[in-house]
Amino acid sequence: MIIAGPCAVESRQQAKTSAAFLASLGVQWMRGGAHKPRTRPDSFQGLGHEGWRILKEAADENGLKIVSEVTDCRHVEEACNWLDMLQVGARNAQNYDLLREAGKTGLPVLLKRGLAMTLGEWDGAAEYVAQAGCDQLILCERGHRTYMDHVRFMLDFAAVLLMKAQGYMVIIDPSHAAGRRDLVVLLAKAALTIGADGLIVEVHPSPDTALCDGPQQLTHGQFEELWTWINGTK
Ligand code: PEP
Ligand code: MN
Repeated sequence: MIIAGPCAVESRQQAKTSAAFLASLGVQWMRGGAHKPRTRPDSFQGLGHEGWRILKEAADENGLKIVSEVTDCRHVEEACNWLDMLQVGARNAQNYDLLREAGKTGLPVLLKRGLAMTLGEWDGAAEYVAQAGCDQLILCERGHRTYMDHVRFMLDFAAVLLMKAQGYMVIIDPSHAAGRRDLVVLLAKAALTIGADGLIVEVHPSPDTALCDGPQQLTHGQFEELWTWINGTK
């Protein structure tokens, strides 16, 4: 499963450019955050529900399916009007009420690993989603916090292998892990080589002007290189 698209939905134009690009390659799943969990309140917070509306319009025009993050139980019902899959992000991976609400919807749920979650805690969080009724659960390893700063978070390939061995479908997010685009394609290739079930990767029509996570978003050219590699190695 390959999911690609911008960190955040920023405008109708940006969403449409992204969707048309991804569809032209044959990508089926697009990402785009509308409710963004940002470290600081003065940073771009996303377009909210309007962002989901824009994302769906762009996706529908190009035959794509969409995944976006829900950060609040109160948004889950609205999210179901627009999204094909709900993402629970790293910062909410142990928000048990949100996990239950997302699990109840009947939509597939993409559950990221928390910034400092053990595998047991991740399995527990996954169980909340599953017991609420979700039968299409996808885990996403996106790196954990360490004392080092050469990458934003440390991608944990052992976790991918161990959670897969427990029967989970596990994809990786090389973008939030690396935090820098020069490593993203290589980490993605490495993850697929060890058997990860897919990727969620940030791609932006103009990463240097992105409103969120610019340094880690791939250019269209870089994503195309990765996509070509993926299809050549199938
Ligand atoms: C995201 O994918 O938009 C995101 C915020 O990721 P994470 O929850 O892994 O930080
Ligand atoms: Mn991001």
